[in-house]
Amino acid sequence: MNTAQSNTASQSDFIREIIDDDLKTGKHEGRIATRFPPEPNGYIHIGHAKSVCLNFGIAARYGGTCNLRLDDTDPSGESLEYVDSIKDNIHWLGFDWGDRLFFASDYFERLYQFACELIKMGKAYVCSLNADEIREYRGNFTEPGKESPYRSRSIEENLELFTRMRAGEFEDGAHVLRAKIDMSSPNIVMRDPVIYRIKREPHYRTGAKWVIYPMYDFAHCLSDALEGITHSICTLEFENNRPLYDWIVEQLIESHRPQQIEFARLNLSYTVLSKRMLIELVEEGYVKGWDDPRMPTVAGMRRRGYTPRAIRNFCAVIGVAKNENLVDISVLEHCVREDLNETAPRAMAVLKPLRVVIDNYPEGKSEEFECANHPQKPEMGMRTVPFSRILYIEQDDFQENPPGKYKRLAPGQEVRLRNSYVIRYESIVKDQKSGEIVEVHCTYDAETRNGPPPDGRKIKGVIHWVSAAHAIPAEIRIYDRLFRVPDPAGESGDFKDYLNPDSLEVLSPCYLEPSFKDAVPGNAYQFERLGYFCADSGDFLPDRPVFNRIVALRESWVKNS
Ligand code: ATP
Ligand code: MG
Repeated sequence: MNTAQSNTASQSDFIREIIDDDLKTGKHEGRIATRFPPEPNGYIHIGHAKSVCLNFGIAARYGGTCNLRLDDTDPSGESLEYVDSIKDNIHWLGFDWGDRLFFASDYFERLYQFACELIKMGKAYVCSLNADEIREYRGNFTEPGKESPYRSRSIEENLELFTRMRAGEFEDGAHVLRAKIDMSSPNIVMRDPVIYRIKREPHYRTGAKWVIYPMYDFAHCLSDALEGITHSICTLEFENNRPLYDWIVEQLIESHRPQQIEFARLNLSYTVLSKRMLIELVEEGYVKGWDDPRMPTVAGMRRRGYTPRAIRNFCAVIGVAKNENLVDISVLEHCVREDLNETAPRAMAVLKPLRVVIDNYPEGKSEEFECANHPQKPEMGMRTVPFSRILYIEQDDFQENPPGKYKRLAPGQEVRLRNSYVIRYESIVKDQKSGEIVEVHCTYDAETRNGPPPDGRKIKGVIHWVSAAHAIPAEIRIYDRLFRVPDPAGESGDFKDYLNPDSLEVLSPCYLEPSFKDAVPGNAYQFERLGYFCADSGDFLPDRPVFNRIVALRESWVKNS
């Protein structure tokens, strides 16, 4: 399948089947409303991108709506910086929520009122056990729970205590509000779950106004209901919470009840997708920030040079299912390569330079070659590439004692310079002390300017090059996988022990052909024979260009299992 041609609109999966059925039976009066509900306590990553593509993709396919809701009901770790980054990265992925931006924190008053209603119905109570006791009373899979001694408080007492909790009269942990459901339910989630807690911590939006905060299970379903969400799509770990979701909604919402549907989260090999772990990598300096090109964040992939289309195609290719699995990161890299192959102009750059002197080419002379920017796309235009007496080639493209079948430059051999002449080896100059090769001397065949040698001899190899007099020096950063094992979070011990020590290699000076003078941060190219590279959006300066390697031309990772 050509992933570039697939798109979310034509796809089907079990969620779209549920929606198709709902449309047939007239559930939700034919309305489709989804939401993407990130907590602003970190940058979004490729797993979130899967959820973004799913929720916005469904809205687009069915002519429905998709809200962006910041699920900001826990003040710890939430911030405006994260809100801004989330909005920016969703836009970059190609999705738009229009005027449908919401914050769960805007519902604090209404959620409080809902909680009061539950108390008045006799379905919630203030519990004064501490956290350890609550856990102990809850029981486990084999043992039913025990009822809290505070379960029988009167409605009046509960209302009074809850009002005083809100007023800030108690310390953190002194009391909680719990739903009164069933302490012997086989589903532990239903054993009188905590729905409000005291937390005297300022909130990035509501400041010190609130000292009690609703728990996820209480806030999420009611936020969905308040926004008229029809299909509340979340990851599998919430499957056990669905009865609670439904219970709360049934108690408090008369009509237009939302429906929770769970799908398997994305797990990607050689990376971690837990916000807690990603925060650790950033805060402890293992990477250079949330947008470090090695990070699986949208910001990191964007800086690395991954394209929104490649990421959307990846999400379409992996699809949505009910079973968790580990998707190989090479699938993502394949989608990136496939997209860039279509769109990235070609150009020449030398990463590990070796000087080549063309002995029979006059000093001071230069000439220009017209080169296509894309071999299959004439509409992408041409550029001129200068040639002169001194060139750079890759160190790898010359070998003094080559193995058999070596097709590049070597003693006694000829090679084609891409887009230019055929050259023949003459001699080498070595550093007297180190024995390192510092210069290769060659001669060129003037008759090969526009084609193969007229005498019919075969030239097997083609190498890339840059004219030294015209070259632009640059720094090039070669990225590899951040971890050296497929499932770092699943290994024993600290996941950081499995970081790949060679995930970043900085090469400088590298030499670029002069057409790169027009490069601006974000531009992506195929460096011929090397891979796809992107002008870095953080450190690029016109007089000191920095490029990131997005992905090699081919899958080259050798699994060290
Ligand atoms: P936390 O561990 O802090 O709960 P989270 O990754 O679940 O982190 P949220 O901000 O709650 O973060 O996630 C927003 C939405 O993205 C949720 O609907 C969640 O189900 C979805 N999501 C998060 N991680 C993945 C993943 N790996 N694959 C698919 N969807 C994901
Ligand atoms: Mg979450």
